[in-house]
Amino acid sequence: MGSVVDGKVVLIHYTLRNDGGDILDASEVDSPLAYLHGADNIVPGLEKQIAGKSVGDKLTAVVPPAEGYGEVQGPGPQPVSRKSFPAELDIQPGMSFVIEDDEGHPMPLWVQRVTETEVWVDPNHPLAGETLHFEIEVVGVRDATAEEREHGHPHGPDGHDHH
Ligand code: ZN
Repeated sequence: MGSVVDGKVVLIHYTLRNDGGDILDASEVDSPLAYLHGADNIVPGLEKQIAGKSVGDKLTAVVPPAEGYGEVQGPGPQPVSRKSFPAELDIQPGMSFVIEDDEGHPMPLWVQRVTETEVWVDPNHPLAGETLHFEIEVVGVRDATAEEREHGHPHGPDGHDHH
């Protein structure tokens, strides 16, 4: 199966903690995360530290904000009229949207809170400014299919998921 290089689909189990040791996210026991290495599917500081690893390898990766979800920038959450969103959409804190900025570039926005009339959105990822502490176990490495390379993401653990 080889080691992790660009163009491989990598399956990992992970636990993500913050500086305080709180668990922020973790893979499900029966369902490792699949990502396409070299395609920006995961934060750059983690991808860099998984490069060259093989199945069975475990590592602890500490990723600073600049190589994680970025530093906190800008004026903070801004209100957008609830009417700007489809009425039937169930908007919840933590959801993200992609809009186009003034120059037509895609720009992600995260929902911070929702009131009856307003949705407060922030261009900062909820984990911006956090140093990320990952515990990683590499549980699978395989070649990406041509379709996966074209799409820039894996199609499930075995490459056969459709979407
Ligand atoms: Zn796809």
